[in-house]
Amino acid sequence: MAGLVVAADSPAGRAAEAINDLTRHLPEPGAPAVCPTCAARFWPCTYFYDAAHRMHNARLRVGDVVPVELHPRLWPPPAASATPHDSRAWPPETGTFGEEHDHG
Ligand SMILES: [Zn+2]
Repeated sequence: MAGLVVAADSPAGRAAEAINDLTRHLPEPGAPAVCPTCAARFWPCTYFYDAAHRMHNARLRVGDVVPVELHPRLWPPPAASATPHDSRAWPPETGTFGEEHDHG
């Protein structure tokens, strides 16, 4: 007997359901900040996070379902500490204490 139908209660069934929910709550290519299912709700929405959590529990990779261009929104790059100005300008020339020639 070939069991092609996955029972909804099985891990695979729950995983498939999670993937379904996740894709339903994925933003459309033109509007990456809006969930098309939850009208006028900011993305990532609560339902997306819930589905992602269930996918994670099913040992599936959320990143395999989410389009690559949306990855930075979900997982911001950790190298955000790169400062635009030159960090070699240190120490800053503010308040040299100790030597005060304040005599007129
Ligand atoms: Zn949603």
